[in-house]
Amino acid sequence: MDSQHSYTFSNRANQLTSSAIREILKVTTRPEIISFAGGLPSADGFPIPELRQAFDQVLANDGREALQYGPTEGYTPLRQWVADDLSTDDVKINLNEVLIVSGSQQALDMLGKLFIDNGSKVLVESPTYLGALQSFSVFEPEYVAMDTDEGGLIPAEVSTAKAQGARFIYALPNFQNPTGRTMSAERRQEFVERCAAANLPIIEDDPYGELRYIGSPQPSLLSLGRKAGATVIRLGSFSKVLAPGLRLGYIVAPSAIIDKLVQIKQATDLHSPTVTQMAVYEAVKNGFLKQHLPTVRELYKRQCQFMLDAMQHYFPEGVHWTRPEGGMFLWVTLPEHMSANELLQKAIERNVAFVPGEPFYATAEAKTNTFRLSFVTVSEERIRQGIEILGQLIREQL
Ligand code: PMP
Repeated sequence: MDSQHSYTFSNRANQLTSSAIREILKVTTRPEIISFAGGLPSADGFPIPELRQAFDQVLANDGREALQYGPTEGYTPLRQWVADDLSTDDVKINLNEVLIVSGSQQALDMLGKLFIDNGSKVLVESPTYLGALQSFSVFEPEYVAMDTDEGGLIPAEVSTAKAQGARFIYALPNFQNPTGRTMSAERRQEFVERCAAANLPIIEDDPYGELRYIGSPQPSLLSLGRKAGATVIRLGSFSKVLAPGLRLGYIVAPSAIIDKLVQIKQATDLHSPTVTQMAVYEAVKNGFLKQHLPTVRELYKRQCQFMLDAMQHYFPEGVHWTRPEGGMFLWVTLPEHMSANELLQKAIERNVAFVPGEPFYATAEAKTNTFRLSFVTVSEERIRQGIEILGQLIREQL
């Protein structure tokens, strides 16, 4: 409460805190800062002419429908496109198993509303996507951190006593945000089998799956889970394959779960923008992503390799980092005694920014010697400069 206004926030709102790191990172929008902190895709990958044409087409031909309210489930042709896109020879996805949402971030909020009561047990990877923790935390769950290693989530973790009675497990199998790690096909299989045996629903969040630039695609938890009898709720997004400003994503889940989510979405925003859904459908319906994605993959691959080379050159021995097969992030582990927060303070003074690992951990077991680097929005020359500066600062603290 301040002196002029009188109001009482809900307990739910009062338990939310803004992170100290967010405050520090506010400076990263200054142009002189070389920021590896952002979570933004590269605007060089946005298909601007194609989207412009798609919006034009929709407004010219179907303006009255495009500007009208629509069904909460989403624009039917786009839902059908998603269903077809995710169907495989042995796993078919039906129209009534698809809900269009305003970005997968909205899906995370809606799933929090659907599954979490105050104190409900929720299983998350350690570390995990910070935005999911922010969405779920509004509903005051009790987080249980699942151990991970270089291969991502360790499947046996879901069969341990600490995992019992959880409402769901939130999993990021491809190029995880923040670590860039990927689960192998064998791990995925074991994971879905263990979840099926434990009656543990899986939320599979996969916004980066199409951005694989090394190795071959692994089967989704959705496809493996359906065959193994697990409940899988898969989140997809157009943010990284087209553009995040569209704010469009989707949820694929058993129809009984979709029905409940439709009630929740209706109360939230009625539906995602009709015109955007129609334009995205117009853009993707004839296979545009197949032509477009190789360009984005190539761009990200080059940027990633450039950063890896710079790290190899400038980082001292004793520092370790992941080698992502796709996506936008890699994860650095400093020697045990070092603090990424302290490194960030020094780095900001030298106009370089990154996100320390701590906020990506749901529980007190945070590894404070870790940090995330994003390599997609910074030019090669600035990647080199930024990594050189970080290398110097790490050496000074060794
Ligand atoms: N999940 C993960 C893992 C992400 O990295 C992001 C974007 N940073 C989102 C969900 C949200 O994406 P959007 O709402 O744009 O689909």
